[in-house]
Amino acid sequence: MIVEFEEVYSGYGNTVVHKGISFKVESSQIVAIVGGSGAGKTTLLRLILGLLKPLKGEVRLFGKSIKNLSEEELQKLRDRMGVVFQFSALFGSMTVLENVMYPVIKKRKLDRSIVEMNACFKLSVCGLKPEDFYKYPQELSGGMKKKTALARALSLDPELLILDEPTSGLDPISAEEFDNLIKTVRDTFGTTVIMVTHDLPSLRICDKVLALREGKIVFDGKPQELFESE
Ligand code: ADP
Ligand code: ADP
Repeated sequence: MIVEFEEVYSGYGNTVVHKGISFKVESSQIVAIVGGSGAGKTTLLRLILGLLKPLKGEVRLFGKSIKNLSEEELQKLRDRMGVVFQFSALFGSMTVLENVMYPVIKKRKLDRSIVEMNACFKLSVCGLKPEDFYKYPQELSGGMKKKTALARALSLDPELLILDEPTSGLDPISAEEFDNLIKTVRDTFGTTVIMVTHDLPSLRICDKVLALREGKIVFDGKPQELFESE
């Protein structure tokens, strides 16, 4: 199991956010988290990133309970995750290729040519063409920026990919293209994907949808069942 929550309560100070939530995310699943503003989606991602510990209940990441882990041990788990935030900014002073090489250069001692080859491969999988690799972020369309951010999140070969509203701000065609790309990434690398989304069409690529309302899970099932239940 990649992620497992068991009767999790979470919160900040006196604010209780999650009120006993349980769910599982299996290897290579694409799971969507949906719900209105304030439902607890961002806090759920913080728990999955080990940035917040539960007040009660168990959060298991890659089979390990995070309750008694040190910051160093949590960082080791985070190193197995790739993240694309809603406003994931690319480094404006770096080319597309340099942006994708950067996390690897920072973390690993590898030959530059190997890092570059790996970055080119990730960019190609993410649908960028070689002539785009030497462009700067400000020369890219919104869709291309998102693809570059995704390639960068894949640079260290994460087992779990976390996406926070990946298609927000994209036109419907670019959004559909990006959804297909997420599916390709899962099919190519076997990456598990957890994404917060407001985009109903995106649910099509998901194996499972978790709907949150007021800190509780009100739906956990296949996307088609969600539409049938309405
Ligand atoms: P969502 O992402 O679904 O909009 P959040 O997880 O951001 O929901 O927020 C859930 C609840 O927790 C909200 O009531 C919000 O005001 C509260 N909250 C979020 N972050 C903090 C924080 N850092 N400190 C105190 N309360 C917070
Ligand atoms: P590093 O110093 O190696 O960048 P961090 O602890 O800053 O490690 O971040 C680890 C992972 O958690 C990164 O993928 C980062 O994007 C993500 N992260 C960092 N801060 C936050 C945050 N406030 N909310 C959600 N995710 C975060």
